[in-house]
Amino acid sequence: MQHCQHHQQCQQEAITVAEKYCATHNLRFTPLRRRVLELIWTSHEPVKAYDILDAISDTDTSSKPPTVYRTLDFLQQYGLVHKLNSQNAYIGCAHPNKHQQCYFLICTACSEVSECCYQSIDTLIQKVAKKNNFTQQHTVLEIQGLCESCQNEKA
Ligand SMILES: [Zn+2]
Ligand SMILES: [Zn+2]
Ligand SMILES: [Zn+2]
Repeated sequence: MQHCQHHQQCQQEAITVAEKYCATHNLRFTPLRRRVLELIWTSHEPVKAYDILDAISDTDTSSKPPTVYRTLDFLQQYGLVHKLNSQNAYIGCAHPNKHQQCYFLICTACSEVSECCYQSIDTLIQKVAKKNNFTQQHTVLEIQGLCESCQNEKA
């Protein structure tokens, strides 16, 4: 179920943010990159790579799977999308400039994902890593449960 009231706005804003991000970082925001990002931003639910492939091959037969996978890698590399390992799927990031590490609340009933950034979690993880002489590269925390709307539906 989709709980976002003005999602078209979210989607448009995300594309604008990505455009600006690519412009300031001298990256090319190709039509395929834009299309894949739009598809991922179809909702706040994670999207699987083969769903993106399906959607693209419907409209654009020239984009072969490896090209689409490379596009996903690109978007992931620059933080425009994040990969949720537990879902094996991608979710768009609304603020690619702002953070390195991500924490996600994943609703098991409606599949909606919220991204949270808390500096204090970052600090704590860095501390734990340091204590173990571990060099932290990439952290994705995935927390599964029920979102507010789904809790209310159950009540
Ligand atoms: Zn939305
Ligand atoms: Zn993010
Ligand atoms: Zn939910």
